[in-house]
Amino acid sequence: MGKTYDIIRYHVAPPLLIVGFTCGVQLLVLVGAGQPATLSVALSRCWGNTFSWTAVILLLKCAALSLHAPGPSKYGPHSSDKSRPLYTLNGVAYYVTTLLAFSCLLALRPDLADAIHQSHPELVGTLNLVALALCLWLLIDGKRRAQSDDPPRPIMYEFFRGMELHPRILGVDVKQWTNSRVGLMAWQLLVIAFFIAGVRRNGFSAAAFVTMILQTIYLAKFYYWEWGYFQTLDITLDRAGYYICWGCLVLVPSLYTFTSNYLVTHPPVATAPLAAAALVLGLASVLLNYRVDYEKLCFRTAKDGRCHLWGRPAQFLEAEYKDKQGRVHRTRLLVSGSWGVARHLNYTFEILSALAWSLPAMGLGILPFLYVIFLTLLLVHRVYRDEEKCQQKYGSSWQAYCRLVPYRLLPWIF
Ligand code: NDP
Repeated sequence: MGKTYDIIRYHVAPPLLIVGFTCGVQLLVLVGAGQPATLSVALSRCWGNTFSWTAVILLLKCAALSLHAPGPSKYGPHSSDKSRPLYTLNGVAYYVTTLLAFSCLLALRPDLADAIHQSHPELVGTLNLVALALCLWLLIDGKRRAQSDDPPRPIMYEFFRGMELHPRILGVDVKQWTNSRVGLMAWQLLVIAFFIAGVRRNGFSAAAFVTMILQTIYLAKFYYWEWGYFQTLDITLDRAGYYICWGCLVLVPSLYTFTSNYLVTHPPVATAPLAAAALVLGLASVLLNYRVDYEKLCFRTAKDGRCHLWGRPAQFLEAEYKDKQGRVHRTRLLVSGSWGVARHLNYTFEILSALAWSLPAMGLGILPFLYVIFLTLLLVHRVYRDEEKCQQKYGSSWQAYCRLVPYRLLPWIF
């Protein structure tokens, strides 16, 4: 069983996932654009055009410049390889400036939103080429610097997983650049462009507005919370490679924006009460997702874990782990507040947020729900990945936590 799992994990899954996802998104964006999703059309549009290369290079450059701009900076958490990356903390300024610049462009060129919608397959194709080239460079450069205690794996697996946790290019932290500054900003600009393209094509729709505004609130929250993002598994566990960098550069602007994209060519039929209910569900879910992440960040940054949650002093378990050099470290696992209800309640609210901004597309079939379906699979898989990591890291303390908080996502159910 162990051997079969290793063969699938190291040899079979990486090439299948790389080919499947890289090609799949090019077909997906054609579906979103309401065009024939055939291989020949996808092939003819995946090389980009002048518009897409200009837009992508501009975004990549602005994102990189934002990381060199003056502003506060702070060291991230210690990683398993003992490195401690330095992060530029001007996410809100970058978010606001980019949105203002984009608004000016939209005012100057009212058909820009239509051009973005029509060229979305080319935009994703360009991002695909850039992301694949970047991942190849990360593989080659990472192999050059590979640690001697890092066992060599099949090349496709290394390409998929990445080599280094915190690589830098020209003084820029790669994951902050690709994930935080390019991928998520592309998501934001695209959903605004798709909403405007929809209004220009079909007139104003409250349902499409709810889909756009909920994602905008979610993304604004992300930039407000950017420092918290540097404590997450994307940064502390996942190495910079296809999985995380390609994912943020290509999958986010294609699959994550899919509902908004789909609503341009398939006008919503949801009633106003349904759109209002989706808005309430979405606002509550985004807020609660933030609250769960915030409780852990507060607890982990408070001296000796002393903080108040839900009006009471936080309760925790002491835990120990050894680093690669065998040194013992002490930490704490929170067992009260949201972290005492379920072990990954933040994922539950993340899924509910995505469901909320998909609900306005109710009545248009299953396709607008693709993102929420994908996210559910991704986060359930992530629960197991994280728990495997925590079990290895904390051993019996993790088991004690699981006994105290037996549910993963939904109390009494899972
Ligand atoms: P978590 O924020 O849940 O972090 C998990 C880590 O937290 C564990 O590895 C462990 O790390 C620590 N931890 C676990 N339990 C406890 C506890 N009881 N007390 C203290 N520390 C604990 O996961 P992610 O990093 O995956 O998610 C962060 C955010 O990003 C979430 O809001 C999530 O929804 C969102 N997200 C969104 C995705 C998307 O595609 N839309 C994808 C993935 C995440 P340690 O080693 O430090 O102890």
